Amino acid sequence: MHIVCCLKQVPDTADVKIDPETNTLIREGVESISNPYDLVALEQAVRIREKYGGMVSAVSMGPPQARAVLREALAQGADQAFLLSDRAFAGADTLATSYTLAQSILALDRQMPVRLVFCGKQAIDGDTAQTGPGIATRLGYSQFTYVLGVDRIDPDMGEIQVRRKVESGQEVLRGPLPALLTVELELAEPRRASLPGLMASLRQEVPAWDSRAIEAEADQLGLKGSPTWVKKIGAPPARASGPSFNASSEPGQAVSDALETLLNDADFAADLNLQP
Ligand SMILES: Cc1cc2nc3c(=O)[nH]c(=O)nc-3n(C[C@H](O)[C@H](O)[C@H](O)COP(=O)(O)OP(=O)(O)OC[C@H]3O[C@@H](n4cnc5c(N)ncnc54)[C@H](O)[C@@H]3O)c2cc1C
Repeated sequence: MHIVCCLKQVPDTADVKIDPETNTLIREGVESISNPYDLVALEQAVRIREKYGGMVSAVSMGPPQARAVLREALAQGADQAFLLSDRAFAGADTLATSYTLAQSILALDRQMPVRLVFCGKQAIDGDTAQTGPGIATRLGYSQFTYVLGVDRIDPDMGEIQVRRKVESGQEVLRGPLPALLTVELELAEPRRASLPGLMASLRQEVPAWDSRAIEAEADQLGLKGSPTWVKKIGAPPARASGPSFNASSEPGQAVSDALETLLNDADFAADLNLQP
């Protein structure tokens, strides 16, 4: 079974800073890591390869330094890795990103038919969670998001059954292969790379693929292929915490104090159509 895992290099912080002039992320001085969700996705891909055989291919779209996430993927069990790097890919929104990644999956499919694609649920910098579903839609694959568990794969029947997170609990879904899964952190704990694995990953070649290698249409790539215009981007102002009520000694008193405070709050009263 050929499994593809998409990994993104992200800044090692959830507290990303925005350049107010360009409305883009300030990456200088921030260390980069593999998106944590993607390492979980890779772990699951490797476990499936260990059970059913086949090959795990890792891909990342990014500048040359994104090779680091691919070396980590190789050390953790991927069989081969490709860096999608081309000036034409720069400035991509999620539409263009999913197009580029989908084209690379088609190129990998020509090597060996792809049955599964793994993505993280979201990248911890962009946070849109749109890339995985975008790839699945472009490729016409079944799509399972927020996956917590892979219960069963039947390669002969060409079927997969997964558990996914929904607001009220979990949902069990079955669908045909090829399929794309976006995964939650709870799905699997990424293994530690072994020393021989690390050494081998440093020796292994990580080819760079440009737009020609993935047979991409120039007008669907990067800034040209990105209909999204970011007008303004920023963090919402920090909110001060509200009043607290100590319910440990007299819970009843704490509840009445809380209610009184709420009822004296003009905004709350207005929402309920009450007079304070
Ligand atoms: C108008 C616009 C311009 C932008 N310009 C730039 C820019 O110049 N430079 C820049 O770095 N970013 C830019 N971005 C951000 C970029 O579009 C997103 O980082 C990218 O599309 C992925 O979206 P996301 O980070 O929300 O990932 P999500 O959709 O949250 O990611 C989900 C999963 O998709 C996979 N994935 C996502 N991105 C990649 C990737 N690159 N390689 C492999 N797998 C991936 C991973 O498995 C990940 O867990 C721009 C965004 C917009 C809207």
